[in-house]
Amino acid sequence: MIAKKMVKFVEGSSVTRAMFEEGKKMAAEVGAENVYDFSLGNPSVEPPKQVKEAIIRTLEEDAPNFVHGYMNNSGYEEVRERIAQSLNSRFDTHFSQKNIVMTVGAAGGLNVALKSLLDPGDEVIAFAPYFGEYNNYVANFDGVMVVVPADVPSFQLDLDSFAAKITPKTKAVIVNNPNNPTGVVYSEETIKKLAAVLEEKQKEFGTAIYLIADEPYRELAYDGVSVPYLPKYYANTIVGYSYSKSLSLPGERIGYLVIPDEVDDFENVICAANVANRILGFVNAPSLLQLAVSKCLDATTDVAAYDANRRLLYDALTGYGFECAKPEGAFYLWVKAKEDDAAFVAKAKEFHILMVPGSAFMCPGYVRIAYCVDHEMIKRSLPAFEKLAKCYE
Ligand code: PLP
Repeated sequence: MIAKKMVKFVEGSSVTRAMFEEGKKMAAEVGAENVYDFSLGNPSVEPPKQVKEAIIRTLEEDAPNFVHGYMNNSGYEEVRERIAQSLNSRFDTHFSQKNIVMTVGAAGGLNVALKSLLDPGDEVIAFAPYFGEYNNYVANFDGVMVVVPADVPSFQLDLDSFAAKITPKTKAVIVNNPNNPTGVVYSEETIKKLAAVLEEKQKEFGTAIYLIADEPYRELAYDGVSVPYLPKYYANTIVGYSYSKSLSLPGERIGYLVIPDEVDDFENVICAANVANRILGFVNAPSLLQLAVSKCLDATTDVAAYDANRRLLYDALTGYGFECAKPEGAFYLWVKAKEDDAAFVAKAKEFHILMVPGSAFMCPGYVRIAYCVDHEMIKRSLPAFEKLAKCYE
């Protein structure tokens, strides 16, 4: 018999993944070209060619025992140093290798951070709508998830509700910018206000409240919008970064945590993260990928391809009368459902459109459309979206 605690994880197994499987089944029935699958955030853009070259160069030039062996649980020192220096030149920070912990993607990084910080019953705040996996990650360590309701229709952060939700048990706050699922980018002004609330509450309760910046979409911002770097606004910030989306490497499982010197109880937090990486069973982030990404830190994905998808879909859908949040980052469009979100998703399926209900992101009444897909598929899907809109006229 499986563990009682595991039963609820299995029952609540990812809606997004289920939809993805359903898409494959539908494609077998009606032909792949007639299915418009917008369910999963799997990058459609190829990894930059520098990544392949760096992998090959690593295999050819570095000693096999070095490439494939164990290393410090936080990762190769030289990889961490290169990443630290690259961040310093981008954000005018002062990190060194000791501030970087290489992780198994952002998911690995978030689990390492939460394992390092949470005692059972500690509260973690997230702003709806958010990546539903946060609930599971927090439950992994018997934390309690506290949800700040969505700020409709801007989908920025509702900081008054946030302030009211902070208690002496609040240990961490997760902010994901640019945001999955809304595509919204939180502005510098919003982040400054968020930091002020956190500073005030730390003082009021005499506690340390860690801000966890979940940043797999940092490089995906459009129209010249800038994404604030959170450690610059709030000292007690841990950043979780990932190459899954920025270099289109989600299956390779590579990312890192930044734990700045200014973080409360820095020495212990950095040691805890190192040990957590090991005892969660990751041991260390994949060695070949650590070395490869460190050799192409300036490589960038083809943001223009996602931008073209974003424009096409946003213009078409708003033209058909759908209400969408202003998409400035990531590769998701957040659309108001024309009825209950589950019913709306079911109706869309009749036209072979697959998308994810907002309930999966703690925000019913909306749907998420992932536009990290083939541009031609979006073009083919538009008549289906138009028919869907007509059902509600
Ligand atoms: N955080 C957010 C907001 C995400 O959307 C995802 C993946 O889709 C992750 C974390 C996990 O990313 P990774 O593949 O780096 O583990």
